Amino acid sequence: MNSRSILVAESVWRDIESTRSVSDDQLSILHFLFAKNFERATRIVDQRGVKRISGEPSGRSVFQVMGESRTKEEYFCFAGHYCACYSFFYDVVNRGEQLCCKHQLAARLAASLGACVDVKVSDKQLALLLSKL
Ligand SMILES: [Zn+2]
Repeated sequence: MNSRSILVAESVWRDIESTRSVSDDQLSILHFLFAKNFERATRIVDQRGVKRISGEPSGRSVFQVMGESRTKEEYFCFAGHYCACYSFFYDVVNRGEQLCCKHQLAARLAASLGACVDVKVSDKQLALLLSKL
């Protein structure tokens, strides 16, 4: 994926954020950019599989996104730059073939649509969670 695609994706995310809804055109652009990963991400969002864990009072947050396998594993992830899943390390970091994994896409989509399950914890609990990543 080149930098132009990244800019296109960013502008689509911003439009979705401002309207809190996603049009057919936006869906086809995101599908074109992210292909299979985007389909998987929409399934995760449809199943309310994205939690946003926010620390109080700082408001800092991390996403916890469910996987698709039967083990029902969940992955901690930052939409922009990190996911704890295998695909992130293999496809994104090592091979550089993908810009992000499906969990990151799901987090971004759910956040843009306001479709996250919001969980509030204390900053101390959040720090403890992050220290285990
Ligand atoms: Zn992931």
